[in-house]
Amino acid sequence: AASKETLGFKTEVKQLLHLMIHSLYSNKEIFLRELVSNASDACDKLRFEALKNDGLFEGDSELAVHIDFDADAGTVTIEDNGIGMNRDDVINHLGTIAKSGTAEFLSQLSGDDKKDSQLIGQFGVGFYSAFIVADEVTVETRRAGEASGNGVRWQSHGEGEFSLEEIDKERRGTRITLHLKDDEKEFADSFRLRSLIKKYSDHIAVPVFLPQEVNSEDEDGDKKALPEAVNQAQAMWTRSKSDLSDDDYKEFYKHVSHDWNEPLTWMHNRVEGKLDYTSLLYIPAKAPFDMWNREAARGLKLYVQRVFIMDDAEQFLPLYLRFVKGVLDSNDLSLNVSREILQQDRQVESMRSALVKRVLDTLTKMAKNDAEQYLQFWNEFGAVLKEGPAEDFANKEKIAALFRFASTKGDASKEVVSLDDYIARMREGQNKIYFITGDSYESLISSPHLEYFKNKGIEVLLLTDRVDEWMVSHLNEYSGKSFQDVTKGELDLDELADDSEKEQQKELEETHKDLVERLQAALEGEVKHVRVSSRLTDSPACMVVGQFDMGGHLRRMLEAAGQ
Ligand code: ADP
Ligand code: MG
Repeated sequence: AASKETLGFKTEVKQLLHLMIHSLYSNKEIFLRELVSNASDACDKLRFEALKNDGLFEGDSELAVHIDFDADAGTVTIEDNGIGMNRDDVINHLGTIAKSGTAEFLSQLSGDDKKDSQLIGQFGVGFYSAFIVADEVTVETRRAGEASGNGVRWQSHGEGEFSLEEIDKERRGTRITLHLKDDEKEFADSFRLRSLIKKYSDHIAVPVFLPQEVNSEDEDGDKKALPEAVNQAQAMWTRSKSDLSDDDYKEFYKHVSHDWNEPLTWMHNRVEGKLDYTSLLYIPAKAPFDMWNREAARGLKLYVQRVFIMDDAEQFLPLYLRFVKGVLDSNDLSLNVSREILQQDRQVESMRSALVKRVLDTLTKMAKNDAEQYLQFWNEFGAVLKEGPAEDFANKEKIAALFRFASTKGDASKEVVSLDDYIARMREGQNKIYFITGDSYESLISSPHLEYFKNKGIEVLLLTDRVDEWMVSHLNEYSGKSFQDVTKGELDLDELADDSEKEQQKELEETHKDLVERLQAALEGEVKHVRVSSRLTDSPACMVVGQFDMGGHLRRMLEAAGQ
């Protein structure tokens, strides 16, 4: 066998380990949840691969996680008979951070433990959390289907490096041994471990065993430590809602999403009839670091008849709902369904519409019943939702009803005004939704383009998000009212003027006819038209772009991008 060799962690792992040990101290017990979560994922993966090759079970298809401890030695072990890892897997998974958004995450760290621990919670670090309580971690693993001589031992003190060694491992799967730090020995205790499993891993679908000291006498009169399953060991989504507590749902979320924060809300539904499936969807509380990364993982965890099939099944949700996490368990799809098949499957299409409806309805209800929670959602994910009208024409109005904007009304300097609020406040005779786009609330609120509207008491929406102008062009209208950029074209202000104002306007045009002609001549080639306007009340003049020309904001953005 090859001898032991030492390898260095990638820089980002070193940074992360250091940070984690210092900032997650108050939350140290979550290491167990993370390791059990990985063990359960490993069992899921084996069961999936064994669908094609049941030789991978090696005659042992009772998948389980076994936890053991040695109080004298101060160790805890977590062992599974899941898929296991070969040498390359170990180097790739336990020597680097493969997660997208890592660079973004590291760049946001401040060195302030309190702030950083929040960021780490948002990022999640899985396996490495073992080093919060252990000063030495040993991983012994063998990939299912490989010869027993191809086992690997990984060992590290969680500082700069780790060692690798080839070992003989009879049983496939992974065994992780934590050598607890001196002041963390309390974890090597039956009662403590049991309560942690109950608290964090009850929802794990494979049984999690702990040895139990029993006093039953067998024939030889010996005391025996019999392993006993401590958790429910049933796929959580198959249990009935009335059996599940909020904590069950929250812990399950952390397992499926790999996010350490609690979710904002969830939807758990069993559908029977033409289609037969169960879905458990979550809306996170915090946007992930890689939300704007096109390659970022998204989609649901797909199961077919309780068997894990794939992570990130993206066919079940449109892009504008890519923040939704969760599980879909279908009784209709075939066990050998692939991504390619999912793309063409008619049932997938129907499930997708139903899931979209469910998410939009949930958000609509939240907006109605809990405005504060809804604004929390909007602040995190509103910009993603704005992709909706362009992507999902059929649900355009429903999505638009969820939008929130800043406006000239009241103290709406934050995005709090819905289109329905706006329409309810429209002035008599007004039939357009007026808006203006720009970089910030401050730059917009003092725009001369708003003078006329302020004077007339007409509300104007202030759109400051980069995607707004594009979004409005796809939305086009809402509730039968079209959108009008107040900086564009000839404003149809007639509808808002009373007769005497119209009269006045005509007189003004007569009086200033000469001036307008002279200005038109002087600005020849610079502007298209010079007009007498009732837009302005305080400023002498302003520039207006044509109705079908690009808006100022979009033009500046394209110029900035070098177009
Ligand atoms: P995540 O679970 O979010 O992928 P982790 O840091 O928890 O991140 O784990 C990193 C990777 O290490 C996993 O994705 C998996 O490939 C591998 N891994 C960890 N624990 C096990 C295990 N018990 N069996 C097999 N592979 C594992
Ligand atoms: Mg994990």
